Amino acid sequence: MKESGMLKISDNTRTVLERRYLKKDPAGNLEETPEELFQRVASCIAEAEGYYEDGLDPSEVAEAFYRVMTEFKFLPNSPTLMNAGNDLGQLAACFVLPVDDSLEGIFDAVKNAALIHKSGGGTGFSFSRLRAKNCRVGSTGGVASGPVSFMKIFNTATEQVKQGGTRRGANMAILRVDHPDILEFIGCKEDNEALNNFNISVGVTDAFMQAVRQGEAYDLIDPRNGEPRGSLDARTVYETLIHQAWFNGDPGIVFLDRINRDNPTPEIGEIESTNPCGEQPLLPMEACNLGSVNLSRCVAVQGGKTRVDYEALKETVWLAVRFLDDTIEMSRYPLAAIDEMVKGNRKIGLGVMGFADLLFMMGIPYNSDEAVALAEKVMGFVQAEAHEASRHLAVSRGAFPNIDKSVFKGDEARAYRNATCTTIAPTGTLSIIAGCSSGIEPVFALSFVRRVMDGDELVEVNPLFEATARARGFYSDELMARIAKVGTIAHMEEIPEDVRAVFVTAHDVSPEWHIRMQAAFQNHTDNAVSKTVNLPRQASEDEVRDIYDMAFDLCCKGVTIYRDGSKENQVLSVSDAK
Ligand code: ADP
Repeated sequence: MKESGMLKISDNTRTVLERRYLKKDPAGNLEETPEELFQRVASCIAEAEGYYEDGLDPSEVAEAFYRVMTEFKFLPNSPTLMNAGNDLGQLAACFVLPVDDSLEGIFDAVKNAALIHKSGGGTGFSFSRLRAKNCRVGSTGGVASGPVSFMKIFNTATEQVKQGGTRRGANMAILRVDHPDILEFIGCKEDNEALNNFNISVGVTDAFMQAVRQGEAYDLIDPRNGEPRGSLDARTVYETLIHQAWFNGDPGIVFLDRINRDNPTPEIGEIESTNPCGEQPLLPMEACNLGSVNLSRCVAVQGGKTRVDYEALKETVWLAVRFLDDTIEMSRYPLAAIDEMVKGNRKIGLGVMGFADLLFMMGIPYNSDEAVALAEKVMGFVQAEAHEASRHLAVSRGAFPNIDKSVFKGDEARAYRNATCTTIAPTGTLSIIAGCSSGIEPVFALSFVRRVMDGDELVEVNPLFEATARARGFYSDELMARIAKVGTIAHMEEIPEDVRAVFVTAHDVSPEWHIRMQAAFQNHTDNAVSKTVNLPRQASEDEVRDIYDMAFDLCCKGVTIYRDGSKENQVLSVSDAK
């Protein structure tokens, strides 16, 4: 690769890169610069081009990858930035591991999760196959301790492994709503510390939702033989789930039947779980590389108005699909079974970040029909182009090997290189590196206080808001400090009304708009969408129920809610871990 000049990056970007991404020697001294990081990643991934007979010139492709990353138009998920070209070489963020109903099965999963966490990946598990608490254990005459009890072992293992890794492991546990231990599972995070390395979600079925609506009981199923084993009143379970989510955000809910309607390879297996943040449903032993296009960098200004630059977006999406497909070749997966599954389906998950910034730039309120329409249009475009790019790759590289066991079998128009192409990730750290709003979320604050090292407090203002405030003549340090305290400008009359309408934050957006936005993106996403519905502290359980009902009706694949302050006692959360 050609030498490139010094990168222009912000202090925040530099700090994050230095802390977690740049190579260090054993004494902790930095061994590379940010430029070298992106060169390392670009060259490593582009090496895959050399594996194909009619692959492109790896050094030219490396140049293009370097450019798109350093312009912060596209970034791959954190493990790729951390590990590409390094000894570890494990590049995927998302894994799902099977947990079979045997001691060997359970401890194999614990071990495999430890290997994945060491490499910076997150793991999801369905515990639905484990026999219920107090069931007989044939070989010993004893009784089983049930899914929740085994989850604690995974939690402890995660806790220990994180001491040595670059980032704390993250886990998702899913239990089907018809598992006999469902009520224990729903309450298992009430004592916040017991399972602090887990996000948990209840896997809800359409039959269950129907039973809720009709006020009926539903059968619990013994996972060992599929036979009914008692029943519960669906509304009671739903209310308990809602209460717990209202109380501290856990569990979330995933709609398993909806997820499996989009399963591209049902012949290979049923989808039982997602990755830790919920955006990536996967088969057991499957992994996926994610990547995100920064929408705020794919814009053009015309006559003083900002618009989406669809040409630039298309170019970025095509390059990103190539990048993610190449990543599959270059990643060293921690298990042969994972390698085989990944290379059979070749799932990738391209998504977007900086959507809230884009809306600020275009002067569109997040909570408006216009924003929802833009979401449909932009993501529809990203999805269509990603599919086209994947089809194009299939022409020279071949379709994904399992295509004949997939829903695309015999369909010329959908002969893809990748069984799935799109996913909306949270982009917790990526968005800091790219300097944009995260994923498709509204911004959390327009102005906030950052504590710096010597105990001083610094007011940090959203750059797009600051530019508008200065241009419209209402900027003052005093006002910015006040906004940091109040958290919203909705009622500040000294700010022009049109600015107040556009510059909304997560808490100004009502739950309905959060869900409508999630649904709009889901309509054009192969995998799932990471989205949190923010609620004020005083929100009621009824509001949570309305959100769940609406998410189900609008065909979302799951929901996560967060009521302000409800996790205050939690020692650690996924976002702290980054
Ligand atoms: P990033 O911005 O660091 O690339 P995201 O916030 O987009 O990551 O999260 C994407 C996925 O990466 C998560 O759903 C999860 O699978 C994995 N992940 C995120 N944080 C962690 C963590 N601390 N440990 C392990 N895996 C993680």
